[in-house]
Amino acid sequence: MSIAYDYHNTTTTAAIPHKQLLIDGQHVESVSGRSFKTLNPATEQVIATISEGNEVDVDRAVAAARRAFEGPWSTMRAAERGHILFRLADLMKQHADELAELESRDAGKPIAAVLRQDLPSAIDTLTYYAGWADKISGDVVSTRPDALTYTVREPVGVVAVIVPWNFPLMIGMWKLAPALACGCTIVMKPAELTSLSALRIGELALEAGLPPGVLNIVPGPGRVVGDALVNHPDVDKVTFTGSPGVGRGILRGAAGNFKRVSLELGGKSANVIFDDANLDAATKAAAAGIFFNAGQVCSAGSRVLAQEAVYDEVVERLTARAEALRIGDTADKGTALGPVISEKQMKSILDYVDIGEKEGATLTTGGRRVGDRGYYISPAVFANVAHEMRISQEEIFGPVVSVIKFRDEADAARIANGTAYSLAAGVWSRDIGRTQRFVKKANAGTVWINTYGYTDVRLPWGGARDSGFGREHGSQALETFTEPKSVWMNLNV
Ligand code: NAD
Repeated sequence: MSIAYDYHNTTTTAAIPHKQLLIDGQHVESVSGRSFKTLNPATEQVIATISEGNEVDVDRAVAAARRAFEGPWSTMRAAERGHILFRLADLMKQHADELAELESRDAGKPIAAVLRQDLPSAIDTLTYYAGWADKISGDVVSTRPDALTYTVREPVGVVAVIVPWNFPLMIGMWKLAPALACGCTIVMKPAELTSLSALRIGELALEAGLPPGVLNIVPGPGRVVGDALVNHPDVDKVTFTGSPGVGRGILRGAAGNFKRVSLELGGKSANVIFDDANLDAATKAAAAGIFFNAGQVCSAGSRVLAQEAVYDEVVERLTARAEALRIGDTADKGTALGPVISEKQMKSILDYVDIGEKEGATLTTGGRRVGDRGYYISPAVFANVAHEMRISQEEIFGPVVSVIKFRDEADAARIANGTAYSLAAGVWSRDIGRTQRFVKKANAGTVWINTYGYTDVRLPWGGARDSGFGREHGSQALETFTEPKSVWMNLNV
């Protein structure tokens, strides 16, 4: 089954494509018959209508996932599971342009960024875990001379995958690929604003040979579909990326049947620039670290900490870099900065700019809406930011950077660690000892030295405190989708 959609055609007279839920290998309308619209944030035009799931649709999807878990998916050879995932990766490569365009239009991302980052990361993740499918093993453990004792790793069961709108395809695949490789089955709830790429991946997965019911996709509101999944007695695990507030609710809901939970939440990451750093490289990476994806990145370097002697130069260079960024049409391969995801998000970011100015920080550039169509904001740099200010403590999730002055190593570590989050941090210095001392002190799941923002599926990714818990990527993710079973065999009977 392969269906190509005409998402270009969004004039008012053209038919707008309609997408249905994907349950048990079938496209189906939601039981309520309701649907919602999805917009291109760059143009504010409706690009599709989508069936809106509810609790009953979730019940049907979970039942299908359970049947597939107990049936074809768990009785298939692990190597065959891997082959299906490799075939899906091949199909994603064949459909790369279509997927990139879909993601660009639905999430308002510059197409160049999707082709450089989102899509290659999603495909790399899938091939990495496809290779793992037949390599998940247990241990033979020495206990008593009259017993053979060993462990096997078994899939946890039916997994609810709940993802945000900032990297729908990429973060979705960070969860789907290891869960499927481990033999779990899935009910996925994409973010309301960005359901299209997930639905397309669901179709390609069927084409790749994934048995019906292994991957079900139920778009709809978080409070309805997400909540129903989190509270469902037949869901074994929830893997979630999103905001700390929703993450807290998920933990409470999951307590009902003691679901396993992985949470990847927000961040307020510090990018620390010492006075002996290569300032050109540091400010280039610091600008990319906050303005990439219009700042809608959990690990965005939204706080740049600059040592006293270089503070003014860092502000100047960041300001110049912000002003040089090309804002515009997301379909144009030369565009660096697209819109933010929605009107609501745009208003929230502009409110933070207001708050920063009222708090007494100096806005050196940007922070204003650009044009009156599409949710574009000019990249903003705040200087003279005090550590206690709200713009320095709260996640803005937009193209706004706060530049904070520090004195010495101890001051840098205190400020860097001084928020509720613990996701990522960067440090810039030519002094290797100084960088390593910072690494030791940093409350962060990832630390970048003289670089910023890289992720790779081979290295664990995640945080602590308000940034959540559990790790995605690497062999660590496999542990989150499997349960060890200890086996005792009496050798004397
Ligand atoms: P969000 O928490 O509002 O939504 C995330 C997902 O949860 C969406 O699919 C939403 O529909 C769903 N949801 C909402 N209410 C729910 C409920 N009651 N029960 C179950 N599901 C529910 O976050 P967002 O606005 O989509 O994304 C932005 C946030 O995500 C930011 O705070 C950002 O830092 C965080 N984020 C973190 C990472 C990471 O890797 N740590 C990555 C991307 C985004």
